[in-house]
Amino acid sequence: MEYISTRGSAAALDFEGATLAGLASDGGLYLPREWPRFTQAEIAEMAGLPYAQLAARIMQPFVGDCLTPDELLELCEAAYGRFSHKAVVPLVQLDERQWLLELFHGPTLAFKDVALQLLGQLFEKFLARRGSNLTIVGATSGDTGSAAIDAVAGREGVDIFMLHPNGRISDVQRRQMTTVRAPNVHNIAIDGSFDDAQAMVKRMFNDAQMTSRFNIGAVNSINWARLMAQIVYYFAAALQLGGPWRKIAFSVPTGNFGDVFAGYVAAQMGLPIQQLLVATNVNDILHRALSDGDYSTGSVTATAAPSMDIQVSSNFERLLFDCGGRDGAAMAAQMAGFEADKAMRLTNAQREGAADLFTSARAEPEDMNAALRWAREHAGQIIDPHTAIGLHAALTSDIDPAVPMVTLATAHPAKFSDAVERATGVRPQLPTRIGDLMSREEAYSELAGEYDAVRSFIEERASPAA
Ligand SMILES: *Cc1c(COP(=O)(O)O)cnc(C)c1O
Repeated sequence: MEYISTRGSAAALDFEGATLAGLASDGGLYLPREWPRFTQAEIAEMAGLPYAQLAARIMQPFVGDCLTPDELLELCEAAYGRFSHKAVVPLVQLDERQWLLELFHGPTLAFKDVALQLLGQLFEKFLARRGSNLTIVGATSGDTGSAAIDAVAGREGVDIFMLHPNGRISDVQRRQMTTVRAPNVHNIAIDGSFDDAQAMVKRMFNDAQMTSRFNIGAVNSINWARLMAQIVYYFAAALQLGGPWRKIAFSVPTGNFGDVFAGYVAAQMGLPIQQLLVATNVNDILHRALSDGDYSTGSVTATAAPSMDIQVSSNFERLLFDCGGRDGAAMAAQMAGFEADKAMRLTNAQREGAADLFTSARAEPEDMNAALRWAREHAGQIIDPHTAIGLHAALTSDIDPAVPMVTLATAHPAKFSDAVERATGVRPQLPTRIGDLMSREEAYSELAGEYDAVRSFIEERASPAA
């Protein structure tokens, strides 16, 4: 399988190359040259497979010759063996029609583990084969940092430097990063905001002195391998609810558009999906884009669902490229306009292509609280604020009530216990396996919010490319 850039001018890469590159050199995002397809009979035959086997079956066409089926299965078993639930992503029934797909049983309690645990395995495999080292540099406002650190801690060939804004993330989120003790893990608290941290990371990717000495890698959801791993659970849920012979709808709490785009790919591969609901909070750029074609950034409002507090949804570019006729030159021009104006209109082809499958909803804080209470009162379930935004969209959707509606439960409620307690009166507890998080020893370095300070810190500690 070959991977091409949404902006048309970067060289095509194989799966291994696309996994290690992250972003394409022309600023675009990698996508497979065409979507692999399964027949309905082939999908039906996957029913009942253990999760790791299902994952290997669904991902093999994307991996191509880069891994043998046995190698891929081995990596999937290692990645998903670290989940605390045997089903990996259990499905929970809320009422006759509403379901929750629990994606938070991984080591750091958010759905990002599903993709990053596999990505950690892929990195180690590919780097060993090439005899090279990878220096991951990232900035986090919450869940990505801890999931990425857990996925690569102690792995050969990888160093990770994770920046977070000092004093501006929750104690649980910080401790999930800073209590991981491995020589290749470096936590950096910088003076400044998440956007300042993110700007430093972007600058480093364009710093020729750094990129010539180190293989700088990314773990955010622009990495194709992350999206690929997320396709699997759409199949897993549908197969349990009567798919492929019955259509299923999904409601997805959305920020960077990675998770819900994986659902779109599942549909392109032949999984019958009735609808994908893009659930946003008041940071609703995607809701505006999908409902009236207006993709324009505003300022970010901090909410109780911080992983959805975004200005720009990087992965939306993949959808626009695929729906808009896969024209890389046109996409590059459209994105250049967006970068200059902070706003753009979707083309008619993009709007119509998206409307086939997607619809969107925006939740106000009181809608989120009402959904948190609904889950508790009607189904005895304590859910997290991000999941509640998805559930709000699911409960208010007007699609055929005969279609099962699955809301993706993206985080464990104990990650956001204050907000959950405010809405429901119940304070969710951390699972016992990480119950001692608040008493573990922390390690992190505090740096001034200056690029040069961060750069010399990394230069002194990272391993050269090869
Ligand atoms: C990252 C995250 C999201 C948003 O997912 P995207 O793939 O960025 O759209 C939603 N909920 C939680 C809990 C997250 O950590």
